[in-house]
Amino acid sequence: MRIYGITGWKNSGKTGLVERLVAEIRGRGFSVSTVKHAHHSFDVDHEGTDSYRHRAAGAREVMLASSRRWALMHESDPPEDPALADLLARLSPVDLVLIEGYKRDTHPKIEAHRGETGKPLIAREDETIRAVASDSAPEGLSCPVFDLDDTSAIADFILAETGLQPGVDEGAARPLPEISPPPLRDDCFALPAGVEWIPVDKALAALREALGPVTGEETLAVEEAEGRILAQDVQALRANPPHANSAVDGYGFAHGALKGEGPHVLPLAEGRAAAGAPYRGVVAPGQAIRILTGALLPEGVDTVVLEEDTTLEAGHVAFRGGVRAGANTRAAGEDVKAGETALRAGHRLRAPDLALLAGIGLPEVRVRRRLRVGILSTGDELAEPGSTPDPARTYDANRPMLMEMARGWGHEAVDLGHAADRREAVAAALDEAAQRADAIITSGGASAGDEDHLSRLLRETGSMRQWRVAIKPGRPLALGVWKGAPIFGLPGNPVAAFVCAAIFARPALSLLAGGGWTEPRGFTVPAAFAKKKKPGRREYLRARLDADGAAEVFRSEGSGRISGLSWATGLVEIEDGARDIRPGDPVRFIPYCELGI
Ligand code: AMP
Ligand code: MG
Repeated sequence: MRIYGITGWKNSGKTGLVERLVAEIRGRGFSVSTVKHAHHSFDVDHEGTDSYRHRAAGAREVMLASSRRWALMHESDPPEDPALADLLARLSPVDLVLIEGYKRDTHPKIEAHRGETGKPLIAREDETIRAVASDSAPEGLSCPVFDLDDTSAIADFILAETGLQPGVDEGAARPLPEISPPPLRDDCFALPAGVEWIPVDKALAALREALGPVTGEETLAVEEAEGRILAQDVQALRANPPHANSAVDGYGFAHGALKGEGPHVLPLAEGRAAAGAPYRGVVAPGQAIRILTGALLPEGVDTVVLEEDTTLEAGHVAFRGGVRAGANTRAAGEDVKAGETALRAGHRLRAPDLALLAGIGLPEVRVRRRLRVGILSTGDELAEPGSTPDPARTYDANRPMLMEMARGWGHEAVDLGHAADRREAVAAALDEAAQRADAIITSGGASAGDEDHLSRLLRETGSMRQWRVAIKPGRPLALGVWKGAPIFGLPGNPVAAFVCAAIFARPALSLLAGGGWTEPRGFTVPAAFAKKKKPGRREYLRARLDADGAAEVFRSEGSGRISGLSWATGLVEIEDGARDIRPGDPVRFIPYCELGI
């Protein structure tokens, strides 16, 4: 939800401007709500009506509703101006909220102005005013000045500022409509004709080109949104901090009223300012007041001296000279300004992001639905752990591994079980997969052998692309689209399945889920091993850091050796060209956590 304020003195024409802007912006296809500051005991129902009688009898809230509209009347007890953020949190989602009044809040605003009122322009003092709409062309302002009646130009300005419509020199996009994106095209994995072996970087670039979001959107409470991907940019509903406050426990005063070099002795004002319990009075120049961490700076205070640097005697506070103006205070909006874009669409929310969203006043956020990733194993030899002593059977190790990798990447993992090496079994499993999942990861049966039904079936649909990626471990990747769902056919060998999932499936699924393209960060560390490598393929070795921070590698490169995956804490990536690595030479180590594992 974007917000923008219209402010101004009495009779400045602000209500007329809001009225015209609502109609204008609605007419351009955006939904608009407003918040208006009213004085004291305004009323929305009349004495004698049923709802009035409920209230008069002492009901705390009265909800008055009909088929046309409803109104919630809330009695503030004791009477107190509600915070703007709390009011905004009660509104239903809309494209734009116009706020009339609320001069002191730090959201961006336009000042309405009429020359005949003779009032000074607020814009000269207040930098939250981004433009002035005036009937008398005031001069000497650093912000844009519009004609008060030029509603269309003022609407253009607000829409550009809030990112709802591209401005003259900005390319901000309109928010996505609330519909699911179209399914992928069947030929999305096509490679240019004649490509035989494809280097890892080219394969990644082709995936990046081919894929985009396939998930719809929903609104979630912030505390439930961890791990979700933002569907829209998020603007701060209010500044953090909302008002200037004290960063320490100490004594506040006006710096400009200090006399001489110090030491200074100031009489203490009666009372104190504490977090959540502001001092309502004015601190006179030359006086100081007790102030605690987080307390709003009272009127007349711009500087705080740390308690430890003072002595207190006979109703006076004494401290040495040299305290800087503004010391130990936090300015309003010094962290985030109201209306500022705090997080971008595509960002995956983590615990610190929830703190930011809460801090800037958002009770809920627009996020992508979780991508459902189906995991299917194929192979006649596969069995569930513990189910058989038959040595011809292999326990299905890939499925629990891939399920957990998908979950770790923030998706919903859908267990599709395992399919035998029969054409109908694989086809039935894929049919079910396309129903229950947005994307499918299979392992096994992806090459061109007799029992490799997956690649054969996909080839028959015409969507199959076998990517012979120059990577070790890993045989061809089978990529295709089955009934609208993209399939990533990984090799069956657990080590190859793991590496291909981490390197290819992870960024591809991130794009499908509406997130950005992910690139693991590697760290250059000395090798604790020796290895000669021929040019042609990029290699990934199971590795971990030893006590000296050097990368040691697993004793075997066999791609069925699952124990090495478990032994490792990351992968050493060796570039496509030839290398003759000696102990101590620099190598690139990618920790598992950089691969979302
Ligand atoms: P495939 O790619 O089907 O030819 O399988 C290659 C090797 O990986 C064979 O030794 C399979 O038994 C093994 N394999 C395939 N799928 C799995 C799995 N889900 N868990 C463990 N090993 C597997
Ligand atoms: Mg197989």
